[in-house]
Amino acid sequence: MRFTFWEDFLALVFPDTCCVCRRSLFDFEDHLCKICISRLPVTSYHLVPRENELKTKLLGLSDVNSVMAYLRFSKRGMSQKILHQLKYRNKPGLGRAIGVLYGGLLLQNGFSGTWDIIVPVPLHRTKLKRRGYNQSEMFAEGLSKTMLIPVGRLLYRNTHTQTQTKKTRLQRWENVSEVFCLETVAMDCKGKRILLVDDVMTTGATLAACANVLKRAQPSKVDLAVIAAGK
Ligand SMILES: [Zn+2]
Repeated sequence: MRFTFWEDFLALVFPDTCCVCRRSLFDFEDHLCKICISRLPVTSYHLVPRENELKTKLLGLSDVNSVMAYLRFSKRGMSQKILHQLKYRNKPGLGRAIGVLYGGLLLQNGFSGTWDIIVPVPLHRTKLKRRGYNQSEMFAEGLSKTMLIPVGRLLYRNTHTQTQTKKTRLQRWENVSEVFCLETVAMDCKGKRILLVDDVMTTGATLAACANVLKRAQPSKVDLAVIAAGK
């Protein structure tokens, strides 16, 4: 996703603009204007969280309970623009705003009391230093705020993995399956219901690797939720 110099300039001079359409925001709006929110490509995975194409993708990688995504990912679409802003344009609040929106949708659909803890996929510390925040953690915080479930940083990365793009499914799996570790505090999660969250799901290798590591803490179930996923 490319942004023009003019767009960058406007965002700098008028910071309170919609992350998608760049219109000025009203005080009651948070990172996204009401019109863009009404046009978000919201999926229906939350209606069939245990039987959908995202869950099928994880077959053979990890036996998770359910998988959901807030938005349908499409190149050059709204979801890509949002993810790009969240990752590369220093917009941690956008991740929280998306989490608040998705949390609201989940509550409307009967997900109240479904989880005990929300766990974000960790970022390697050098990347965290460069970006200043973990975008998955921001999403987790938004969900936490709306659903009143604590965020638990139960995982960390032990090596700096190579970039996942341009890798085959098997190569991605080999690349990530050994890099996540469990924090000692995770051992208190025996019997707990965990919602593992990330910004995007492509092959599902990263999420599956994290879920498998979390299972060592013997939670009663692990569900997955991401901001956006493609087919
Ligand atoms: Zn807008």
